[in-house]
Amino acid sequence: QNDLSHVVAADREHVWHHLSQHKQYETADPRVFVEGRGLKLWDANGKEYLDAVSGGVWTVNVGYGRESIANAVRDQLIKLNYYAGAAGNVPAALFAQKLIEKMPGLARVYYSNSGSEANEKAFKMVRQIAARHHNGKKWKILYRERDYHGTTIGTLASSGQPQRAEQYGPYPDGFIMVPHCLEYRKQWDVEKYGERAADAIEEVIRREGPDTIGAIILEPVTAGGGVITPPEGYWQRVQEICRKHEILIIIDEVVCGLGRTGSWFGYQQYDIKPDIVTMAKGVASGYAAISCTVTTERVFEMFKDAPQDSMSYFRDISTFGGCTAGPVAALENMRIIEDEGLLENTTRMGERTLANLNALMEKHSVIGDVRGKGLFCGAELVADRQSREPADEKLVQAVVADCLGQGVIIGATNRSLNGLNNTLCLSPALVATSNDVDRITDAIDRALTNVFGC
Ligand code: PMP
Repeated sequence: QNDLSHVVAADREHVWHHLSQHKQYETADPRVFVEGRGLKLWDANGKEYLDAVSGGVWTVNVGYGRESIANAVRDQLIKLNYYAGAAGNVPAALFAQKLIEKMPGLARVYYSNSGSEANEKAFKMVRQIAARHHNGKKWKILYRERDYHGTTIGTLASSGQPQRAEQYGPYPDGFIMVPHCLEYRKQWDVEKYGERAADAIEEVIRREGPDTIGAIILEPVTAGGGVITPPEGYWQRVQEICRKHEILIIIDEVVCGLGRTGSWFGYQQYDIKPDIVTMAKGVASGYAAISCTVTTERVFEMFKDAPQDSMSYFRDISTFGGCTAGPVAALENMRIIEDEGLLENTTRMGERTLANLNALMEKHSVIGDVRGKGLFCGAELVADRQSREPADEKLVQAVVADCLGQGVIIGATNRSLNGLNNTLCLSPALVATSNDVDRITDAIDRALTNVFGC
């Protein structure tokens, strides 16, 4: 092992880390990762970890160290690295075709670089459609409490996690929040909770005026907002309401897309028929930057047959949306998921993770709720099971730190979001084995005992 202390020093001096606090620069050494293979990672001190959060933010779906992706990207870059604008390139065409094969009912792929950008593009489509087809009406966009859609001003305007957005306003108008659907944090005392939570969306639509609302954006399973799987009946009713009021459904698959829930896309678990789907992280598993805004032919057609006015144009050009590395990595990423049966593995390993977490719930009264779909699972920690008062944020972070000490990297959903950051979050690469899953939940078991003493 080489001495990498100069790298750690450089990182400490010059890198402004994401999700960081100033005091971290003054105290602890940064963790600098050097190498990865499968689910394993090694840092600059040579310490080995089992990564249960796929690169920190649920991205590396097919695992680290995939030479076939690296080689495909290398070969493509030597042949043609780039051409952007109105022209196409080979991997962009082939990946779009392959992607659409997995998304019956959808037809067109617009490329950009990040989840935020893919969502911005979807919002801009809605605004253009409002201007072209609705006389400027139907321009507002609904978003849901606890959902998250990105880092830009537009996507923060649609952030259902206000603490993330509060420092960056003022925001553009026209983004309207609807209630979350987490049954464990009940807002209505009814039997058919899913339908009730969906009806709450219609109440907002009626309040705002259906002729002002163009679209709703939703995560199929809310990720960073607390691993929220939808209650039964929810999605069906949401769709009915949207169809009734001619509201486009935008599904944010930035986390769930490309296998995370055990199907190609999260929306396919719930029989949703979206008009626009956005995706990013798992599309190329972090081997290259790529995101997509995928639409139905009907949405695409709304931009056709226009007179030669500005609205007939898609005036956007995204520099790296013309990159060849993203789609070529995405093609190979998809081949791996298919050839290695990773959707099936994800379903099986997800069930095992939930079973293990449910067993831990028997033992640790601090676990109030366990939920998840595929390899995106969470355990919500509470101070008291009866009152469901959220566990103290510091203790939740202590559990994460204890696991880290044991060499297992787990997550907790959204730091410093009151009452939201109390859910431990597991999202290992889709290649996880039974052994990996058991190691991860064993680490949590020990950490809960160490931190809570029970
Ligand atoms: N949507 C969701 C559901 C996300 O979790 C994220 C990122 N955490 C984004 C959008 C934004 O993606 P990006 O960071 O690539 O801009």
